[in-house]
Amino acid sequence: MSALPGRLVLLGHPVAHSASPRFQNAALRAAGIPLHYETLDVTVEALDATLQALALVNGAGNVTIPHKEAVAARCVRRTPVAERCGAVNVFWHEGHELFGDNTDVAGVEFVASALLQRRTAGARVALIGAGGAAAAVLCAVERWEGAHVRLYNHHMPRAESLAQRFSAFTQVVPSIAEAVHGASLVVNATPVGMHDDALPVPLALLPEQAAVFDLVYRPTETAWVRLAREDGHRAADGEGMLLEQGALAFERWFGRHPDRGAMWRAMH
Ligand code: NAP
Repeated sequence: MSALPGRLVLLGHPVAHSASPRFQNAALRAAGIPLHYETLDVTVEALDATLQALALVNGAGNVTIPHKEAVAARCVRRTPVAERCGAVNVFWHEGHELFGDNTDVAGVEFVASALLQRRTAGARVALIGAGGAAAAVLCAVERWEGAHVRLYNHHMPRAESLAQRFSAFTQVVPSIAEAVHGASLVVNATPVGMHDDALPVPLALLPEQAAVFDLVYRPTETAWVRLAREDGHRAADGEGMLLEQGALAFERWFGRHPDRGAMWRAMH
């Protein structure tokens, strides 16, 4: 993208709780870029009008629940990974045309491959949840040679329809216990544990060597991550993914690396 965007926003509904403005504004300050990153609470009904208004000011930004798929559908061009995922979490304009990318996938890759100590080939992944974040996980795992996913969602039809798009390496299973059996990586891609200490997977079901990746981000570690780590598992919550997808978005908007240290410090 050549000229600075007229506005830099996070589109979502609800969106006020988001941590993105904190670390994106820290990155902007560190880079000396005279922009302020702001949240825009946009209902589904208001999405088209909002995108039209942003096109007029060369707007750019991020997209979160529930608009990732809708914005992807409205982009004139999508990167191959956004195309594969069917979801866009980063957008910008060229002329008045809307472009989209998906940096959630690279955010998943960043954390998951570290948890697996780079041994992603042949990984056995248990994936709980079948929404947009689960699609990002499948897009990341698709690149791991010989990896396999057992997918569980509390509503089977949504799991079936997501798995169909990744059928070469994804199998839907009818219980959490079956998903987790023999897994080397267990991923929570549901909101369970976001507002309380509910566990998406009972600790007793986790295979001894399994790493645990909770996509949920809270100001303090989720109960699942804390307890899994106490039980000897390598475990990470959603913070690393959130920061990495944000850093890669910054690179997409401004063509330069953000100060990841400043972003991290803004979160702590
Ligand atoms: P989504 O598209 O709404 O999908 C949510 C998934 O969780 C669906 O499969 C849904 O199943 C399931 N689910 C919802 N409530 C549930 C419950 N009470 N018990 C069991 N399953 C439940 O949301 P998403 O975008 O995939 O996000 C999922 C989670 O990942 C959220 O917590 C989000 O904050 C987190 N996330 C984190 C990052 C990051 O950077 N760390 C990025 C993206 C998302 P049904 O639709 O069948 O009910």
